[in-house]
Amino acid sequence: MNKYSPTPFLYLVAENLISRFGTDLSDIVVVFPGMRAKLFLNNYLHQYVKVPLWSPQYQTIESLFTESSPLQIGDDILLISELYKIYNQIHNKHFKKPFKKTLDEFFFFGETLLNDFDEIDKNNIDAKLLFGNLQDLSTLRDNLSHLSENQIQALIHHFKHIFQNKTPLQNNFRNIWNMLGEVYTSFKTRLKEKNISYPGMLMRQVVENTENLFKEMHYAFVGFNALNKCEEQLFELLKEKSSFYWDYDKYYLETEAGQFIKYNIHKFNSSLPPQQFDTFLNIDKKITFLNSFSESGQSAVIPQWINSLQKESSFIQPNSAIILCNETILPTIIHTIPPNTVENINITMGFPIVQTAISGFLQILIEMQIKGYSPANQSFGYKYVLSVLRHPYTTLIFPKALEVEKELIKNNIFFPTLAELQDEILFTYVPDTLSLTQYLLNIIQKLKQSYKNKDTNIYAGLYQESIYSSYIIINRLYRLLSTENLNIGKTIFSWLLRKYLSETKVPFNGNPVKGLQIMGVLETRTLDFNNLIIFNVNEGYMPGHRNENTFIPQFLRKHFRMYTVEHQDSIYAYYFYRLITRAQNITLVYTTNETQIGKAEMSRFLLQLLVDPRLKDNIERFTLQASVIPMHSRHITIDKDKSLLEKIKNKYDLNTNIQAKSLSPTILSCFISCPYHFYLEYIQELRNKTELSSETDNSIFGSIFHQAAKLLYQQIGTRQIDSKTLDMYTQSPQYIRNIALEAFQREFFKRQVKEKDYNGKQLINLHVICKMLDRLVRFDQKHTPFSILELEFPINGSFPIKKGNIHINIGGVIDRLQEKDGKHIIIDYKTGHEKNSFKNLSELLSTKHKHIFQAFIYATLYSQKEKNKPIVPVPLYIQRIHKKKYSPILIYNNTPVDNFNKFEIDFKNLLFKKIEELFDPNIPFQQTKTIQNCEYCSFKERCNRY
Ligand code: SF4
Repeated sequence: MNKYSPTPFLYLVAENLISRFGTDLSDIVVVFPGMRAKLFLNNYLHQYVKVPLWSPQYQTIESLFTESSPLQIGDDILLISELYKIYNQIHNKHFKKPFKKTLDEFFFFGETLLNDFDEIDKNNIDAKLLFGNLQDLSTLRDNLSHLSENQIQALIHHFKHIFQNKTPLQNNFRNIWNMLGEVYTSFKTRLKEKNISYPGMLMRQVVENTENLFKEMHYAFVGFNALNKCEEQLFELLKEKSSFYWDYDKYYLETEAGQFIKYNIHKFNSSLPPQQFDTFLNIDKKITFLNSFSESGQSAVIPQWINSLQKESSFIQPNSAIILCNETILPTIIHTIPPNTVENINITMGFPIVQTAISGFLQILIEMQIKGYSPANQSFGYKYVLSVLRHPYTTLIFPKALEVEKELIKNNIFFPTLAELQDEILFTYVPDTLSLTQYLLNIIQKLKQSYKNKDTNIYAGLYQESIYSSYIIINRLYRLLSTENLNIGKTIFSWLLRKYLSETKVPFNGNPVKGLQIMGVLETRTLDFNNLIIFNVNEGYMPGHRNENTFIPQFLRKHFRMYTVEHQDSIYAYYFYRLITRAQNITLVYTTNETQIGKAEMSRFLLQLLVDPRLKDNIERFTLQASVIPMHSRHITIDKDKSLLEKIKNKYDLNTNIQAKSLSPTILSCFISCPYHFYLEYIQELRNKTELSSETDNSIFGSIFHQAAKLLYQQIGTRQIDSKTLDMYTQSPQYIRNIALEAFQREFFKRQVKEKDYNGKQLINLHVICKMLDRLVRFDQKHTPFSILELEFPINGSFPIKKGNIHINIGGVIDRLQEKDGKHIIIDYKTGHEKNSFKNLSELLSTKHKHIFQAFIYATLYSQKEKNKPIVPVPLYIQRIHKKKYSPILIYNNTPVDNFNKFEIDFKNLLFKKIEELFDPNIPFQQTKTIQNCEYCSFKERCNRY
């Protein structure tokens, strides 16, 4: 068979219009399903005649209806609020009791009803019949005489089920159903009085009142497929003065993809001959199936696709298109196109505002206003405030945002006041919906002024446009709320705003007839491309889902010829087959892993192509190999070059810097546990950003306990303590509670907070701290008498290190120093637990004896000052002190460590040898080999250790 080059559908239309009407097309009205085709048709008309011509007028089907009606399409919110009023009245009349739901509660149900009414009108359905009293099954039989006996039986069976079984749900359904006819009629009367309508009502009004409505023009309906009843009726009315251009192909005309076109051709004829619609199998076609394991990995094929097209001499950019069945992958696709490979890119589909920064910004502002405000504290909660402060747009309009954030975190402020937040526009509470819209408008207004020229990348114009469009949407809502006195809550407002933002797309600038095209499936109607790559050709996207709620049972929808799932599948089948009919180089990408909407399955349309024997030589199948290199966890080593060594010395060597810092027991422990962690945290100072949290994490919990223990013994003072001294605490728990509350205030809230304002977790932690203090006092009581010498005692000492002429300072704070039986006991409170016995000193320089190691460092420092008395270092495990057998005394090879002096020299030698390693250029910083050390480490992700 001789294969030929395909001619685009719109070119055929152009050719036909010129041959029939000449170059003056000013009396022709070309009507498209969407306006996208206008530029392409105009282009083809000029290409065909090659001389100036009078262009036709262009309309979309919506604009044709709208222009022909005196009614205006009302805003959804206004329509639903009118519907609410009517529903209320009719409900009261039917049930003889007031309808208790508010407009907010009614809103979603109202939206469902509005959709149903819209469809009823678009399909010219007799609402009286649909919502009639279907309990009377004989009426049903009369009214549905157009159905077959089997269909009627099925309906009767269903309604018997509904009306004879009386579960509360069925009762409810029946009661509502029986009043819907009246709601529908009264609602439409009310809208007519106000001169507003929903789209279906407007369309029905037009086709029921057509006299003299349509001008003496010739109408050309181009590229339509499934028509609703009103459209069909309009076509019928204008049939005599119209041309119909249906786009189809013999290949799929007899399948589900062609079912509507076949009906339309039969009813309205076609202005183009059938010979022009036998293209699919008669052109050279190369179809490549590409399987990608992941949804995000699909775009990796784009550079190769562009490259292969450029090698073809026939490659013309506007003749090539990237089609997205799932439009949310647009940003990934744009970023994958290699720069300078294509002259122009034309993104025809628009960018959803909901995917731009302004949408997220508005959502966090609204969330702060709705969920974040605490009437008790008369301020916003920190979580919501921090989200706002951290948003990049906030820094544009409030340059102090970072500073304020730091202050809140530093001072643990959970409910910051307006004075602390320092910005009235952002942080003023707005009590109602109207003031919320005004609040958002003020912020966007300020943002619009600050945003200008801040950004210069590909998205700059787009983001500016999205800010502008959001302003328009909110302003529209503001005007509705203020002029119509609508009483909707903030939550519904937030939902509506999100809905409008997700429906609004910001156009990319570009010329649609130039450059490589990127578009969604709907935009492809009537257009043809020679080279196509289609992404996400998966079930769920192709065919897609339409999840519209409806109150009308599916079987009734079917019988009244309303929109059903099968209907939707046929429409998608048409989109798919029409799109690939005239294309010669087609790449179909599908994923086999999960997609955003669930399990990934190749689209049924791909399977249909695969099983078609006529295409067996046209199809090739490949798997997209993502060039992802598996991440092996490599061992990280940081060599100490000259500059790093200088940095270390500058930080910790007194001979290099007299203001060098002290090495604390905690820092030394860290160096022993993981030198790489030490390097990150103490040399590179990569600390985890401190987070403000209303929850007391382990370290904060430990600080509160330390503070409480200090306050308790400060109350007693440095005197001999006997059992009686501590009685007041064991006998009156309120003393302990007051101390714990004070410690919470100082360490956690950093301000006065009443116990009644503690949240649940804080109260639990308060209770645990009280319990631990009680145990400490009871434990101490058993070990009286003793004397407190110091509380939170800062101690340090400087030491020379033999190797490398280094001099270091070691310092820390001893929790409690006390004297008993002539010994000085160094108490280090521990809220965790470790073994308190060891076999040799070198064991202490490992991670399993961190607590003993730290206590020994305190003892080393204290022994520089106290030469006469035996020193006893004791890590005191607060969680264990209530146990009968618990003894805090450390055990070395079965003997109690009751005098540190015996260990001092050997321990110091080992310690200094370890510290030498820190300054040794030949010993790099390495990751720990003990993987357990990584369990709670904040650098886990960086190290790839999970
Ligand atoms: S994750 Fe492990 S290896 Fe990495 S820094 Fe932390 S403790 Fe060291």
